[in-house]
Amino acid sequence: MKIDKARFIEPGNPPYRRSIKNLYTYEKYIRTPSVGLLTLTTIVKTAVDDTFMYSESISKIKWNDVWDADIIFIGFFTFAATRAYELAQYIKEHSKAILVMGGLHASMNYTEAVRYADYVLLGEGDESVLELIEALRNDRRIDFPGVAYKSENAIQFTGKRPPPMNIDTIPDRDLLYRYRKMAGHNTLWLQIHASRGCPHNCDYCAVVRHFGRDVRTRSPENILEDMRRSIEFQDKRPLPRLYRILWFTDDNFFADREWALSVLRSIIKSGIRYSFTVQARYEVGFDDEMLGLLKEAGFVEIAMGIEFLEDEAFAQYHKRCTRDDVIRSIKNIQKHGLNVRGLFIVGADHHTKGVGDRLADFVMKYDIRGVLIQSMYFVPGTPVYEANKSRLLHLDWSKYNGNVVHFPKNISPYDLQTEIIRASAKIYSPKNLLHALLHRKWREKLIFVGEFLWQMSVRADLKKELPYLENAGKERNDCKPA
Ligand code: SF4
Repeated sequence: MKIDKARFIEPGNPPYRRSIKNLYTYEKYIRTPSVGLLTLTTIVKTAVDDTFMYSESISKIKWNDVWDADIIFIGFFTFAATRAYELAQYIKEHSKAILVMGGLHASMNYTEAVRYADYVLLGEGDESVLELIEALRNDRRIDFPGVAYKSENAIQFTGKRPPPMNIDTIPDRDLLYRYRKMAGHNTLWLQIHASRGCPHNCDYCAVVRHFGRDVRTRSPENILEDMRRSIEFQDKRPLPRLYRILWFTDDNFFADREWALSVLRSIIKSGIRYSFTVQARYEVGFDDEMLGLLKEAGFVEIAMGIEFLEDEAFAQYHKRCTRDDVIRSIKNIQKHGLNVRGLFIVGADHHTKGVGDRLADFVMKYDIRGVLIQSMYFVPGTPVYEANKSRLLHLDWSKYNGNVVHFPKNISPYDLQTEIIRASAKIYSPKNLLHALLHRKWREKLIFVGEFLWQMSVRADLKKELPYLENAGKERNDCKPA
């Protein structure tokens, strides 16, 4: 069959709507298009000249440009799965294109995704996507690893494939519809994904199940080139951005220490002057050489996956860490002039009423600048999902975006959601806003104001779920609120 036109679609949750508020404040939904899907689009462009991507995070989809595509790809995370399936059905009604799904959720939950698509690509698609196109063009059987599809009412799975070793692809940002037009928008952070894989094995982590435990890295030269292009893309505009920051989206940038050091030295040598943020585990806080280089290279903060505050939870979910480690790490990072942002999970088995207050007090006591608080999340395929699937409230994936979606063991779903709301309100209180405005540097004032507004909208959404959670909690006999 002919494959002359390919379109990629990233479902949004919900799709982007233009508004004045969206221009100047953080938004409650992710508005950073998927680097992974844009990377695949860039790869497919080498084989199919007419290749283009739409992200609902950025704009509406121009359907007239999609219907006559020969192949359409939809890539998505769990929170966007409901929307992805809705789009898939719509596409099937209007187009004869081959429909392919991929991304973390489809890949880990392919028996579900394959009901909506002709093929599902499993794991990283950098290589399998080209093999798929080649096979379809030549009407060959799909017998190479990394694909699931339906045939004669059975699901065929061609086997796991090793992840790609060469990941030096620079995403072509001009392949994403209206991205350049949106560039400079303050809610869009520049993103670079510099490595894949993580040697750890936390029970709740979907990323390590998707990318695997072997760490693969991009070359420092390739990363620097990507950074230059990304900065040029976002900042070459008449009005300067209020907040210029580039986010290294690797889940564990420091997994390969020597490589991380070499990337930082290359940034310093390159003369690129910018502000950066990066995600990390607590161990980086004990590495004085790394922290010194981070500071020198322009990093302003470390977004630390703290997750829990109790040793019991670290042990239960197989995160090698203690509360004391976290505190020592935070202090040392701050000593090097870097801020710490905290990523937290509530809803562990032993969490009880007051978990939100304890979390907020910890954040304020240790001067953590910025938080993401989420209820325990359950991506199909993770150990935590398997262990808790009988305790899930529902499988409405659109609500898997921070809401409580399970019956915790020692607190009701309603109370847990209330704890998240309370923690957010305590950290982002008017008093703390005033304090930030009076005492912090201009950049941090700006961040606090942005996050204050963002957290308000997050809380408003969490509150909408409370009536449902109140009823759901009553129906569960073995849920024993403390
Ligand atoms: S350290 Fe982070 S990326 Fe690695 S397994 Fe744990 S949560 Fe996942």
